[in-house]
Amino acid sequence: MNNECDLLVVGAGVVGLGHALAAMDQGQRVIVLERDHRIVGASVRNFGHVGATVQSGELRELALGARERWLSVAGRAGIEVRRSGAGMAVARHRDEADVLSELAQTRDSVRLLTAAEVVDRLGGAGADDIVGGAELGDDLRVDPRTTVPRLAAWLETRDGVQIRWNTAYLGAEEVGDAVRVRTSRGDVRARRVVVCVGHDLDLLAPTVAADAGVQRCGLSMMLTDDPGCRIDPAVLTATSLLRYGAFADTAASHVLRERLTAQRPDLLAADTNIMFTQRPDGGLLIGDSHLLDDSLDPFLDEGTFALLQREVETVLGRPLTIRQRWQGIYAARPSGAFLVAELAPGVTACSVTTGVGMTFGLELAARTFSTVLS
Ligand SMILES: Cc1cc2nc3c(=O)[nH]c(=O)nc-3n(C[C@H](O)[C@H](O)[C@H](O)COP(=O)(O)OP(=O)(O)OC[C@H]3O[C@@H](n4cnc5c(N)ncnc54)[C@H](O)[C@@H]3O)c2cc1C
Repeated sequence: MNNECDLLVVGAGVVGLGHALAAMDQGQRVIVLERDHRIVGASVRNFGHVGATVQSGELRELALGARERWLSVAGRAGIEVRRSGAGMAVARHRDEADVLSELAQTRDSVRLLTAAEVVDRLGGAGADDIVGGAELGDDLRVDPRTTVPRLAAWLETRDGVQIRWNTAYLGAEEVGDAVRVRTSRGDVRARRVVVCVGHDLDLLAPTVAADAGVQRCGLSMMLTDDPGCRIDPAVLTATSLLRYGAFADTAASHVLRERLTAQRPDLLAADTNIMFTQRPDGGLLIGDSHLLDDSLDPFLDEGTFALLQREVETVLGRPLTIRQRWQGIYAARPSGAFLVAELAPGVTACSVTTGVGMTFGLELAARTFSTVLS
């Protein structure tokens, strides 16, 4: 086994593999360390929604870059990416429709939909009170259970890339102009190291994480049986219209927040972002709620799952049967959507610190590689 490389990547999530891809494309020899036997982190626990349309500012730039990277790597690695009609927001109140109309005035990729068009995209049924919606034209959608694992499998077939599964990063020290990396399966020598361990940054670099205000965010998620209808887009609902930058920047979103505060404190108390997407086998991924803490309790609240299920059933106008439940975890902090920090000479950490790493992680990785690591 070759124990030398140009870039050693810690973590085989979307951010780590994004670095591996960028380095491989520059002809570098890459070793990826992944402590688990397969990918089980945030990168397979999510919705697979590349929500580029509703980002704002720097995140919008990163998301549009990542969108191109998804389309390009999809062709090379045989990953299925849905692009047409991949995102939709549903409006069930005047204030929600106002948020969408305001956004449509400034963003060409947002196309307003009638209530009938929304119901059609929801598979032919829907809540009686749907008043309209919007197609989010820059969005993409991938199947989260298979996409990042497929990216890893493809990278492993390429010259110059090795992924070492069930191999944990334990630390590193500078030796001359290289870095000696200690792993649970022996040492590796690398020119540069990038630590892409998502929320585990707080374990590997506790001071850096604490100084940046990084916490863990726990999300309640479910997978349903096939509801018997085809739903093409990833679907966002009311509380999503408060969460993502481009929605939150609208004046109408303040009216929406006031109404939800008065009428639906339960949705805000659980910090919900109620959305759903359909997997290739028909099952719907539904979620989610957000709970911030330094360490997350392993005990999940059944009331939160019930709330999420009820809301999605109402939007869809159909009962749902739950097949799986799980907790997703990502790193979060009060301000700053990502953290790139030098941990030691030659060792850089790169973590997404908000819930949209599938949306912009590939571009963040490519930029970090070209500015800090190449
Ligand atoms: C429920 C949920 C829903 C989401 N939905 C979306 C969405 O629809 N769209 C979107 O854009 N984003 C979404 N996100 C966010 C997105 O999934 C994350 O931002 C992204 O996956 C983070 O990728 P990552 O590579 O940084 O972390 P991870 O995927 O968690 O990967 C980190 C890897 O590091 C490994 N690791 C940790 N410590 C070590 C060590 N010492 N040695 C070796 N390996 C180690 C871990 O095993 C893990 O595999 C969601 C997140 C969650 C939790």
